[in-house]
Amino acid sequence: MDIKKMLEYQSIDVKRKEEIRRFNKLKVVEDINKAHAIITKAKQALDKLNKEIEDLVSQLNSISSRYKDQFDLLKDTEANLYHIADENEADFYIKTINGYIQTIETLAQEAKRLSEKISNNKTNRDNCMATGKKANTEFLKLKEEYDQEAKKTKEIRGGFEEKLAKIGLSNEDLEIYKQVAGENKYPVLHVLRDNYCFCRIEMPGSVTQKVKASGWCICPDCGRILISEDAYEKAKA
Ligand SMILES: [Zn+2]
Repeated sequence: MDIKKMLEYQSIDVKRKEEIRRFNKLKVVEDINKAHAIITKAKQALDKLNKEIEDLVSQLNSISSRYKDQFDLLKDTEANLYHIADENEADFYIKTINGYIQTIETLAQEAKRLSEKISNNKTNRDNCMATGKKANTEFLKLKEEYDQEAKKTKEIRGGFEEKLAKIGLSNEDLEIYKQVAGENKYPVLHVLRDNYCFCRIEMPGSVTQKVKASGWCICPDCGRILISEDAYEKAKA
């Protein structure tokens, strides 16, 4: 590992990350991200509601077709009733008619329940659209300022990225650096003093020996790159 280059890389990478943090903390960036999140959420909710409404409407259609069938049967049965002379047979028909009426009532209740659900979902859909529209207006209002800031940070980050590339870190070292650094681990490299890592864990003998022998070792606890004081002084010289 080229510790001198790694330290250089780290010092510029810290500035690059500070720039990312600065940008993300800008009010316009926070506000536009919030607006964007609201728009996304509203869109998802809207999709879900539309699917539910579609499903409820199809349930309602099926109920009204069943309702119509039962009603037709009822009418036919009622029409027949007047031609029946036999009392027992008439009783049977009346029972059948009552059965149809009961089914029709149940279907009507079910239709009412579905209609209410559809109506509620439509209200929710209106609210969702209003929320999304408001967030979208906010988003558009912020966009110009955001774009300017985004352009600025892109240039600044580009400058740091150029500097990082110029260091000429080997692929192997770059791989290690990136693995350790992740999104926001800093420092990536830490000088091992008194056998303690940055993470305040005392290093076992095997680690301190390896640091002494090869100039560096990965902390088994926090995964940072521990470097020896010697290697650090040499790199700084
Ligand atoms: Zn550690």
